[in-house]
Amino acid sequence: MKNWTTTRRFTAAMTLICAALTGAATAAEVYERQYTGPVIDVHLHAFSVELTGLGGTWTNPLTGKTYVGATTAAEQRAETYERLRKYNVVKAITSGSTAVEWFEADPDRILVGGMIGLGPTSVEGFRQQYEAGKLHAIGEMGSYYSGVRADDPTVLPFFELAEALGIPAGYHILPGGGPGSLYQGGLMANIRAANANPMQIEPVLIAHPDLKIYMMHAGWPYLEDVKALMYAHPQLYVEVSAINWLLPRAEFHDFLHGLVRAGQIKRILYGSDQMGWAQTIDDGFEAIDSAPFLDDSQKADIFHNNAARLLAPD
Ligand SMILES: [Zn+2]
Repeated sequence: MKNWTTTRRFTAAMTLICAALTGAATAAEVYERQYTGPVIDVHLHAFSVELTGLGGTWTNPLTGKTYVGATTAAEQRAETYERLRKYNVVKAITSGSTAVEWFEADPDRILVGGMIGLGPTSVEGFRQQYEAGKLHAIGEMGSYYSGVRADDPTVLPFFELAEALGIPAGYHILPGGGPGSLYQGGLMANIRAANANPMQIEPVLIAHPDLKIYMMHAGWPYLEDVKALMYAHPQLYVEVSAINWLLPRAEFHDFLHGLVRAGQIKRILYGSDQMGWAQTIDDGFEAIDSAPFLDDSQKADIFHNNAARLLAPD
């Protein structure tokens, strides 16, 4: 027993010495939460079991991280809510089959986003939902999954509706599932990298200058195009959901840093896009909170202030 204790102490001492010698690696391991203010998540999902993203354990090939999927809608909700409380999420634009249920149970926090491109929806249906007080944004606009671009005639009426109602529209471009998901078929079968360029949003911005619009997943990996778009169109916001946990941390930080260096800190939004894996919220939050190039006020902008401005009534 004594020997074991000694060995353990020796090992602990060696660990400390090694830690001192490998400062960079250790810094990532000892991440401590910095930002504790209010958070607005502009990309949350309330799914039922029938919909995608539930029930599977998935290892992200880009990071090696494994996520254990919820197996029931109740589990997805409970695991998500644990994080909403942990991270002080005060508002969340939520889409998916049970979003209205979540809103009715928690109307101060949940805002309902109308999803398109992933099932049957209509402009008239959304208008009625808005008039009933159960629609607060159009998004996720997932037409990308159907192989359709932002300026397609089937998509434009939804932008028009968002502009007319004065509510935000969130347009999804890449990623769309994990790497190579188009080969899984089903909902993902029509994903094309060729449809991912964020420049497709420009005709919409010009046709609808009063539209409150945010590009989901921030147009990654087209950093230069996103800089050009944000420079040319001061009404365009971008949110960093999914890329904040799907991408290797260095790649995400490079992309985010590029936007910050370009002076766009006031138009970057936080989102999670957790689907069936609530643990991704932890990684996505940490990816921003640990960014060495962001100061406290810039984190407050991304986590809360920018989205509060976007959501404020005119
Ligand atoms: Zn999503």
